[in-house]
Amino acid sequence: MTEVLRPYQVEVIAEFWRAINAEQRRIILVAPTASGKTVIARAIVEQARQKGCGSLFLAHRREIITQTSNKLRGIPHGIIRPGIQPRPLEMVQVASVQTLHRRAIKASTMELPEAGLVVVDECHHVVAQSYKSIIERYPEAILLGLTATPCRGDGRGLGKVFQTMIQCPQVGELVEQGFLVPTRVYAPVDPDLHGVHVHRGDYVERELADRLDRPKLVGDIVTNWFKFGKRRKTVCFATSVRHSIHIRDEFVLTGVRAEHIDGSTPMAERDATLARLASGEIELVTNCMVLTEGWDMPALGCLILARPTKQLGLYRQMVGRGLRPAPDKVDCIVIDHSGATYRLGFAEDFIEWTLDPDLKTENPAHAVRDGDHPGGPKIVECPECGAARVGGMACLSCGYLPAPSPRAVDVIDGDLGLVGTSRKAQPNLDDLRTREKWHGEFAAIATERGYKPGWVAHQYLTRFGEWPPYGVAPVPLEPSVEVRRWVKSRIIAHAKRRNSA
Ligand SMILES: [Zn+2]
Repeated sequence: MTEVLRPYQVEVIAEFWRAINAEQRRIILVAPTASGKTVIARAIVEQARQKGCGSLFLAHRREIITQTSNKLRGIPHGIIRPGIQPRPLEMVQVASVQTLHRRAIKASTMELPEAGLVVVDECHHVVAQSYKSIIERYPEAILLGLTATPCRGDGRGLGKVFQTMIQCPQVGELVEQGFLVPTRVYAPVDPDLHGVHVHRGDYVERELADRLDRPKLVGDIVTNWFKFGKRRKTVCFATSVRHSIHIRDEFVLTGVRAEHIDGSTPMAERDATLARLASGEIELVTNCMVLTEGWDMPALGCLILARPTKQLGLYRQMVGRGLRPAPDKVDCIVIDHSGATYRLGFAEDFIEWTLDPDLKTENPAHAVRDGDHPGGPKIVECPECGAARVGGMACLSCGYLPAPSPRAVDVIDGDLGLVGTSRKAQPNLDDLRTREKWHGEFAAIATERGYKPGWVAHQYLTRFGEWPPYGVAPVPLEPSVEVRRWVKSRIIAHAKRRNSA
């Protein structure tokens, strides 16, 4: 069974072989949740096999090994993990890192499989010693790392291991193409983390738990779920095992069918709980660092973030759990009690991943919002529906558009008598640049969708409160996720007004 590849999957596979032809040997493939990274890897492994090159596929969680083995159906392969009969003669081997490390390196009870291609799943863990010691045994092999979040815990790049980065379309683009659902974020609580220490790039867990595992805050989680969660299938990420249990208990007290799992929950029990969530027998599962990655349930419609983090990677992994499409699923509700949205931005933001081990991954859209630019937009709560939206822009959940500020009205009216000289008529240079940029991006979207030039001018008018400069043709610019979101929100708002008329 070979899945039909999507156009971007065909493109990244071609890019992979071009990199190989250009003598690259250590390649990282950045592939968001549900973009089909295993499908892409399968195609590459199969093409390598046809060239006579064997592959070793490394993963660190039992779920991923089972998933990968299922995805490789049709390609003969062996599996190296406890409880499975090894088939050492197969050219393709799927291995648990821990098992392979234990059997082939620590104990020498088996030989390392021969491989010209080593695929590392969830390769942001690659700096761990067990990975390193296996990879070191394959100095001649091509190394292909797969991940949605190519950075270490502290946000720095993986350039010490990898040379080249190939990227699938990002979350925002996959949402637009319909391969993922958008998020609808409610961030009613921004916890006070003042004084919580930071160790290795993230908050100290014990201190976080002390701060967040309090009856009032746990109660708020339940209240806000009833308010925003629409009783959808929900997963809650907690700060500690006790925190997770307390949240579960609070839900159960209010009559919600909720269960808790953690790292010590036996596999069979964990599977049974998740099966009950999938079937609808229970509504909600709380957990501590179990369901953060390598796990999927497309029907999941709501996430509660109760575990603050400074790690962009961890945050995006958690939110990524909810983005797969499913029948009748239009979006994923994220109820953020962790402050992560305010600190790290939206899942749909375009991220500038870096390989550079001395640089930190950036979210440029959020950096502008986050106070680096005084007077820049902030993430605020929508007064209509309570969703998190970018200040000054339309709400993506309900279409609410804030009234233009009085200052903009003064400028339109040309009523300079009421405005102080320091802020009369002329917008500052930043504003002009922003306007030019948006104008160009509107123009590109119009071309893409076959809209008339009048549409561009109208978007400009709606966004900036005045018509574009007369006689100036915009220079088309690649539309940013931010501008696309805005345009989309206008279309939704327009449709809503039409429906209610
Ligand atoms: Zn709203």
